[in-house]
Amino acid sequence: MFNKYSDVLKKLLKLWQNTPKHYEGKILGSMTTYPHPLAIYAYNLFIHTNYSDPVIFKTIKVMEKELIEGLNTLYQGEGHGFITSGGTESNFLALLSAYRNKGTRENVVIAPDTVHVSVDKACYIMGCRVVKIPTNNKPVKISVLEEYIRKYKPYAIVITAGTTERGLIDPVKEAAEVAYNTNTYLHIDAAYGGLLIPFLYKHGYLNQDLLFYEGISSISVDFHKNGLTPIPSSIILFSEEKYIEHICFETNYMLSNKTCGLLGTRPGASVAAMWSMWKYFGFKGFEKLSLKLIDIAYKLYNGLRTINGIYVYEPILPIIVFKHYEIAYDSLLLKLLEKGFYLYKSPSLSALRIVVMPHMTLEHVKIFLDTLREILKSYINKY
Ligand SMILES: *Cc1c(COP(=O)(O)O)cnc(C)c1O
Repeated sequence: MFNKYSDVLKKLLKLWQNTPKHYEGKILGSMTTYPHPLAIYAYNLFIHTNYSDPVIFKTIKVMEKELIEGLNTLYQGEGHGFITSGGTESNFLALLSAYRNKGTRENVVIAPDTVHVSVDKACYIMGCRVVKIPTNNKPVKISVLEEYIRKYKPYAIVITAGTTERGLIDPVKEAAEVAYNTNTYLHIDAAYGGLLIPFLYKHGYLNQDLLFYEGISSISVDFHKNGLTPIPSSIILFSEEKYIEHICFETNYMLSNKTCGLLGTRPGASVAAMWSMWKYFGFKGFEKLSLKLIDIAYKLYNGLRTINGIYVYEPILPIIVFKHYEIAYDSLLLKLLEKGFYLYKSPSLSALRIVVMPHMTLEHVKIFLDTLREILKSYINKY
């Protein structure tokens, strides 16, 4: 028996009402944001398209090409791009491509211990071994990276430009040099930091840039993080065409005779959304956005510093990591949850984490700080 259209709609709207929205200012830990209206429009317009079929949907390829050109100007490289569903798929594809180019190297991937969990996932599925370099939550030391490469002869190295827990940036340029000299595949995971670092570097917030240096084999950048596009939308740029060929498989029933990447049918709409945001914002727009985010992050940082008992780490990217000297971070997390605030954790630092994403405003910061003060007051009253 069918339900009435209007009944389904009513239930749908009810569920929607009970779903938190970023612009309400309570989603503070997630690296997601509310997509830009133009990106939503573009996504809806191209809702029927399949990125896996570049023969039927040639216009998607046109947008993809222009997007890649834009990113190549940003990173001053000549990358060959492939659209993915996110940083997870990109990390997977980087390792897959590297693996198929592995030669006589060991079935080992080397990464600082701050690397994203998707690298563990990929290696679990692909049967590689991830050797982690202990970093004590600092950017990896180049001499140590070199030592590990000599010792383990990995087929790939993954470093991160903007780690998930703390926003650390591994030394990209120096690692590229090492990768070049040892002829090792180097993947830069810039899922979070890719659309921030070049601009924040330009304005003196960071001491290193993110460019497509010689020695880098791939860079991945999420658009559904700081690019304001709907989920899923992300891109991986490879230094050579052959690396894309490594992620493609013969698929005889398709008009293109091949499919690439991890997924089969997948949204061409993502490409349209990414293209729109790139065209609309451009350099200047993303630069302005990055500056807005770091400004809010510093205001939040300074606000937290005035609260008794709170320790807060100085921001690198717009990620604020803090803890209380006496209250366990997970119990503070629960208290904040009770008040409707969604923060994430930085378990490696036993701390809480806020990511300042494009939807966040100074008003949100103020309300959060007031709530935190109130919670801490109730703790004091109790003991
Ligand atoms: C977010 C993130 C990922 C995972 O990306 P998804 O889009 O969630 O798949 C990987 N690496 C880093 C550094 C990230 O910040």
